[in-house]
Parts: sequence; C-alpha cells; structure tokens
Amino acid sequence: MFFVSVNYPNRIIGGVGVMKSYNICKRCVMDTTDPDIFFDESGICNHCKEAEERLRKPPLGLSAGQKAEALQSIIRKIKERNRNKKYDCVIGLSGGVDSTFVAYKVIGLGLKPLAVHLDNGWNSEIAEDNIKNILEKLEIDLVTQIADWEEFKNLEIAFLKASTPDLEISSDHAIVSLLYYYAAKENLKYIINGVNTNSESILPSAWSRGHNDWRYIRLINKKFSGYTLKTIPHRSFLKSKYDKYIKKIEWLSILDYLDYNKFEAKKIIQKELNWKDYGGKHYESIITKFWQGYILPTKFGFDKRRAHLSSLIVAGQISREQALEELKLPAYPPEDIEKDIKFFCEKLGISLEEFEIIMKTPAKTFWDYPSYEKSWYYKVLKAMRNTKKAF
Ligand SMILES: [Zn+2]
Repeated sequence: MFFVSVNYPNRIIGGVGVMKSYNICKRCVMDTTDPDIFFDESGICNHCKEAEERLRKPPLGLSAGQKAEALQSIIRKIKERNRNKKYDCVIGLSGGVDSTFVAYKVIGLGLKPLAVHLDNGWNSEIAEDNIKNILEKLEIDLVTQIADWEEFKNLEIAFLKASTPDLEISSDHAIVSLLYYYAAKENLKYIINGVNTNSESILPSAWSRGHNDWRYIRLINKKFSGYTLKTIPHRSFLKSKYDKYIKKIEWLSILDYLDYNKFEAKKIIQKELNWKDYGGKHYESIITKFWQGYILPTKFGFDKRRAHLSSLIVAGQISREQALEELKLPAYPPEDIEKDIKFFCEKLGISLEEFEIIMKTPAKTFWDYPSYEKSWYYKVLKAMRNTKKAF
C-alpha cells in the first residue's frame, strides 16, 4: 500500500472543436478559452449563473445562525458516534491554505481527526514545513503515504503523452481514494475536506475532468506507459458506490458552513500556526504550479486563475477589476521558466526534446479516451437518476 498528503483540478481555443470569436463575461472573468461557455443577452456567462445557484443552496444559502446550528448538529453526531474511539473523522492535509484551515477548525470544534497525506514526490519545502508546524501546534496524528515514484512518474508521463489537460487528476484521485481507505480502515463515517464553494464554484469541465474515473486513469496508463499500476490508491466505480451506500462514508465540506474567506483564513493560520504562503492556489505542490502556471496556458490555451478569480468575484470576495489586474501578471514567473522546465524534465526522466514534442502534440480531451463516463452502465445509471429527479 502507498502511504500519505493532499492537493487537488481543456482545450485550446481553436485547437479542438469550433472556433469561436473571443468573448469575456461582463460579470466575472471567464472567457471563450472555455470552449463550452455561453453568454446571455446581457453578456453574463453560464458559469456565473450556475455558481450563484450553488451559493443559494444549503448550507451556503442558510443564514449565519442556521449554518452554525446545522454544523453543531453534525459535530455532535460525529462526537457521540465515536466517543470511545481514538479518532472521529479523517481529514486530508497538504500544507495548503484550505486543508490547513480545516485542520485548525476541526481541532477548534473539539474533534479528534486522523490526518492523511499523499506524498507524490512533488511537495514544496514550504508545504512540508507547514505540515510539520500544523502537526506540532494542533497535536494531530498524521499518516503519510509515499507514492511509489517509478509508478507515479510513469503515470504522469502517460498523461503528458495522452495530451489531455487532466494530468493532475491522477494525484486527486489517489488522495481521495486514500481518504476513503483510512475512513473505512478506522471505521469512521466522516471525511472532512477543504473543498469549498466560495473559492471553487467555477471550474469548466473542459479544463479538468475524470477525477473519480479510475477507468480513464488506468487506461491512459495502459496505453501510454506500459508500467503496471500496483500500489497507487484508487477506487473503482463499484468501490465508490460501496463507500457511499454500504459503508455510508460521508464527505463533509465544512468550509461551506463557515462563510469561508481565504484571505481571512490565511491571516488566522499565519498567526496561529506559523503557516507560510506559497503563492498561487494549490501551488504547495511543485507540479501543480508548473502544470497550472505554465503547461496549461502554453499548450492548452487556458489559465486556471480565471476560474478561481471568477469564483471569488461571484462570492463577493474580490471585484472584477481586481481580478483583471491580477490576470495582467504572468501566469508563471518568466525568469523561472527555463530553469523549471529543466527541473521538471530531470525529475520525470524525460529529455528536453521529448518535452518539446509533448508541448507541440495537438491537445486532446477526456472524450478521446475510454472512461466510466463513456460506458453503457454509467449512462444507464445517469438516465435512471434523471428519471427519478423528474418525478
Ligand atoms: Zn461569468
């Protein structure tokens, strides 16, 4: 078994599909670099509207008092159920702002978490220091699973060769699988996570897809790597249903109960946990920084900062003007590009020539490869779910 940290995330405009003329939303900063975006007659995009819808739903749409009450009721249930156990919930810990704030809050609420971390070989030093500080200050037990580097490296190279924008889902999938693994092992029913609607309500599916799709990940590896996946934590379609319906493990996004504001959260954890900032969203991981800041904009033609900044605009945490100002800054520090390409290639064991070929290979999408989502049983289940909703 692989032991653990956390972390988490298409198409070139004109690279795939129909070429659209450039347009940008009048309310947020999403634009036609998302090939599936559409605008209403006032120039407002579908992402804004869908995000607003999500923010209106419980728990986010509840009053502050109702949210506090709902959260207290869940916390009471978790404590009662696990009174005699060493732990009462599982949390992921990456050293990033969201997961650190979750750890801080969970301890503040009197819970007894088991923290889980996947070391996929790309942790930044800052993230590792942050984790050390968090564990010491909050006295939390941590289980770290170190990925088999040969296996993990080859999986990442396979995604590079597959030419889809989904390389990072291999880490995301492994982390989530690991959280469920430890929840089941310790017989715990709650995974308390840092996923939050305020800063993550917008993310086009064309920019990242297949996080829960082990078939997609496994078959990309099979086609492009030739290296067998033996130890990477994963969950099949059936296992995910088993965890949900038989084991009844729940995924609690606690930050949605807390009117989460990342800027405020940073100040608190800096003061209380000596937490250090690493820059962009999810840049606690070196590969995430390079992937989102360099490869996605350069090869796939989109900048994930747009989705993140747009989420913050809809949540009322920044203005559109602030977001546009931030987007004027380069997605990646130009002075670091050459040095970091070299580091990236050396770490993965590929030559600069191979990297150049990868960057020039035309972009593909999730839909170009087999997956659960493309299978007949997935479609049947989806149709059944939609029919049930309609009645
Ligand atoms: Zn918009």
